[in-house]
Order: sequence, then C-alpha cells, then structure tokens
Amino acid sequence: MLKTHGYATHDAASSLEPFTFERRDLRPNDVQIEILFCGVCHSDIHQVRNEWGNARYPMVPGHEIIGKVTALGGAVGDFTVGETVGVGCLVDSCRTCPDCQDNLEQFCNTPTFTYNSEDKITGGNTYGGYSTQIVVDRHFVLHISDRLDPAAAAPLLCAGITTYSPLMHWKIKKGDKVGIVGLGGLGHMGVKFARALGAHVVLFTTSPSKVEDAKRLGAHEVVVSKNRDNMAKHTLSFDFILDTVSAAHDLDAYSCLLKRDGTLCLVGVPDHPHPSPDVGRFIFKRRQLAGSLIGGLKETQEMLDFCAEHNIVSDIELIPMQYINEAYERMLRSDVKYRFVIDLASLKS
Ligand code: NAP
Ligand code: ZN
Ligand code: ZN
Repeated sequence: MLKTHGYATHDAASSLEPFTFERRDLRPNDVQIEILFCGVCHSDIHQVRNEWGNARYPMVPGHEIIGKVTALGGAVGDFTVGETVGVGCLVDSCRTCPDCQDNLEQFCNTPTFTYNSEDKITGGNTYGGYSTQIVVDRHFVLHISDRLDPAAAAPLLCAGITTYSPLMHWKIKKGDKVGIVGLGGLGHMGVKFARALGAHVVLFTTSPSKVEDAKRLGAHEVVVSKNRDNMAKHTLSFDFILDTVSAAHDLDAYSCLLKRDGTLCLVGVPDHPHPSPDVGRFIFKRRQLAGSLIGGLKETQEMLDFCAEHNIVSDIELIPMQYINEAYERMLRSDVKYRFVIDLASLKS
C-alpha cells in the first residue's frame, strides 16, 4: 500500500484539510502516478458541499490530474516510467455494456468516478487528485504530449473534454454560429474549441469585466446577458448554444436565440433545477434541448491530441494546496481566470 498525502473534507459544512490515506498495491493493469498538478472544477465544490446529494466522506476531490508514471503493472505495455500522463473523471467502468463497447464509458450504468465513488476493488471510497499519488487501471490513463504545458493541460481532463465532446457530437464546423454561456473553467475551453473548429463564436456572460478576456480567448462577439436588447439582436440566429453555467437560471433567454432545428446543450449541473423552460419555443421551431456528460476515454485522447496539434491549453492560476478553501470562495464569486490548478509540490515539501 502506498502512503499518500491529500486534502479531504469530512462533511458538507467543513473546509478541506490535510488527510493521509493509502493507495492500493499495483495490479497487473495498473499505472502508478505521482501527481504533479490537479485542476479545480466547479463539480468539486458541488460534491464537497453535497449539493448533488450523493456525497461520500471523507472526500478527496480532484479529477483533472496530470502526473508522471512512477511504476507499471506487469501487463501494461503502452506506458513508460517517467512519461507524463493524465487522469480525468473516470477510473473504471464495466467494459461490457453497450455504452462501454461504444467507447462511451461515461454513460456506463456502473462507472467508478475518480472520487466520491465506491471503489469496487478495495470496497472503500475513491479518492481524487488533491493528493500526491494515484493508482489507476491503464484503460483510464491518457497520454499527454510533451508539447503541452503540464499544469495548463490539467483542466483539459474535465473542462476540456466536457466542452469538446458536445461540439464534436453536434458536428460543429466552419461557419456555424455557436454560443457559449458562462466564462468559467468550462466556458473558456468551449470558446477556444469552438473557435478552433472555425465557428463564429459568441460568448454570453453575466460579468462585464470579462468582455475583453473573452475576445482574447477567441470569441468574435461578447454579449452581457443581463442586457435584454443585446440578447434580442441574436434572436433566431444560433446553430448551437453550449450552456456551462453552474447555477439555476432562465433557459428561455437562450432557446429563443436558436434557429429552427438549433440545439441548446446543457453541461452545467446546478444544485437547484432550472425554471422549467417554455415548451412552445422548442415545439414551434423544432429546437432541441440536450445535455452532455464529459466524454469517453477514446474521445478524451483525441481531444488531448487535438490540443497538442492546435496549441490549446487552459488559462490557469497555479495555487498551492493550502489555498484551496479560498479558491473555492473565489470560484463562487466568478473570480477565476479561468481555472485554478493545484501545484502538488506544495504537499510534498
Ligand atoms: P466555473 O468555473 O465556476 O464557471 C461557471 C460560470 O458560470 C461562471 O464563471 C459564470 O460565468 C457563470 N455563472 C455562475 N453563476 C451564475 C449565475 N447565477 N447566473 C449566470 N451565470 C452564472 O464552473 P465550471 O468548472 O466551468 O463548471 C460549470 C458547471 O459545469 C458546474 O455546474 C459543474 O459542476 C458542471 N460540470 C459539468 C460537467 C459535465 O460533464 N456535464 C463536467 C464538468 C463540470 P460569467 O461570469 O461569465 O457569467
Ligand atoms: Zn469536472
Ligand atoms: Zn459499462
């Protein structure tokens, strides 16, 4: 067993604090990883605070993991010790159901998430990347190109794939008009990907202070969503809108901006439901309301390779582990540009 240092919370009302635990011994298909960096996703806050009602404590969050391979199980042939690798939101799935067979492990009915899941191997909880090391089955470990800055690549493992996957599924292409709602961790990756795919990108934000940044990140236009006149100018014009907002809000403000047959895809997972949308807006223009969940392992590797090719990483603020509780408060105030990433060296010194 490998002694591991991390940060955990023990109930919904407490702060994260130092926590020591053990990782399992290496099995034949396992990769042992020294964690270098871990991104801070808004899902970490939702789960630490039990906003989705399924918290398992103690909880060590973190599913945007970049590290170096330190040891390999005997059956692992396609990784090398010292290689930079990534781990995202999943560490296991059944491998046999139709979703797993289709490389869509995120939709498996018995997935094992990187943290806040039952660990089907040890029987305890899975513990995530706010820690010094992790042991993961090789199927759930990603190759990371040397061309990507490792700290700035960490958020690709969740924010990256969660925005890339729906843009791929809905076949966004050159000339499509794409809206991204919310300029946070997911939103700023959505802007970068939509731009790289050749779309005309419009960013919707509640924060006037983010307008210039949004343009720098790749948006052709920025709309401060509280201004109804600015919103109305875009009525019936979008092919696709990706909504990354972490809190409940009015979806009708966006559905009416879609063209006939356009899609409003939700990836934000608020703690309270959105107000029920106006059904007529979907019926009369055959618009679609959809959702999307991270991405499968094959597509995650494709996304990472796309990022290496197009020089895409996250805009990050690197923090020591000890800053995590303050970082959460800042994220809740939309005060992050645009992803906090924990430098795990801060736990090792
Ligand atoms: P984040 O960095 O905190 O960004 C969320 C953004 O939403 C904020 O920056 C803000 O953007 C906007 N926002 C926040 N509160 C708002 C409000 N009350 N009304 C309108 N806009 C508001 O969060 P994130 O890490 O990107 O995650 C976003 C959501 O996606 C979370 O709910 C998270 O759990 C979920 N998520 C889902 C998946 C999936 O697979 N579907 C994967 C990862 C995360 P502006 O300042 O620009 O308005
Ligand atoms: Zn996430
Ligand atoms: Zn399955």
